[in-house]
Amino acid sequence: MINYLGSQKNWQSQLSDTINRLDELLTLLELPQLLETSYNPKQNNFPLRVPRAFVEKMEKGDPNDPLLLQILPDKRALQQITGYVTDPLAENEHNPQQGLIHKYKSRVLITLTGACAIHCRYCFRQHFDYKANTPNSRQKQAIFDYIKTQKNVNEVILSGGDPLSLTNKRLFAWLNDLSELEQIKTIRIHSRFPVVIPERLDDELLDFFAKMNEEKVRLIMVIHCNHANEIDDNTARHLTRLQKTGVSLLNQTVLLKGINDTLEAQIALSSRLFQAGVLPYYLFLLDKVAGASYFDCSEEFAIDLYWQMIEHLSGFLVPKLTREIANKPFKTPIDIYGTIR
Ligand code: SF4
Repeated sequence: MINYLGSQKNWQSQLSDTINRLDELLTLLELPQLLETSYNPKQNNFPLRVPRAFVEKMEKGDPNDPLLLQILPDKRALQQITGYVTDPLAENEHNPQQGLIHKYKSRVLITLTGACAIHCRYCFRQHFDYKANTPNSRQKQAIFDYIKTQKNVNEVILSGGDPLSLTNKRLFAWLNDLSELEQIKTIRIHSRFPVVIPERLDDELLDFFAKMNEEKVRLIMVIHCNHANEIDDNTARHLTRLQKTGVSLLNQTVLLKGINDTLEAQIALSSRLFQAGVLPYYLFLLDKVAGASYFDCSEEFAIDLYWQMIEHLSGFLVPKLTREIANKPFKTPIDIYGTIR
């Protein structure tokens, strides 16, 4: 393990001190041989970016570390593979306002920012046009006007990018304004910060969440964690504090080849999440985004693994096995019964 002691720094300093150079990452991890099979994607819009606290959770000298593989720019990403596209969920076709995606009846998603604390190489929004979709104050007003015309919408998802990249001041302004919309009953925040820079869950943020939960709007935080090693004791402590504010805490995971595609990895992940106060929510099949084909597991493989999970885990520890199909107005459950054992 690398002794970075990120937990002693505030989140802003950690965010401005992420690792962006491949050679620095591989030197820290004592893995110079990976220079052969990796590349430094600094010229495109999705460079290497990883917080030091996340690197601290990786095992030095292990080229197959499950956290490293999520962020390492592998040369296989440069191959063009048929069926893997830049907008796998056709989000550009459901973008009625800049900064807003509306695919499902009861909820809309706002891309508050393009910034993330970490760049995950399988991310389905890695080619997304954030420049056109990061709402300024005029576009914010247009988003609110649009929501008011959509009477079925009662939930807003704050996403990105990562909405916790915003300062507390800006985030609170969005949350306050949204909660004043009479139709909105639930606000959901999708974020990877709680596992990659847990110090983002600072006192001011938690106090605000606790107060909001006393009002009419329910807050949900969906974290994104793919492997039990992402939740060390420091992370678990922050998640437990977050849970105590009354925020419903869920996790979504992407099934990733070589990272969490074993029964042992899934059992460890669900158990560790639950110990930290988080319920497993979704286990997604990979969205077929250009550059991520080497992470993909077949549906048959996923179904077989899923039945093993059902056999070994309590029901509340089994996430929903799902995939998103472009232009469908819901997430599609994988039909596991066609192969019932
Ligand atoms: S944190 Fe989320 S939005 Fe950002 S790169 Fe990772 S998966 Fe994509």
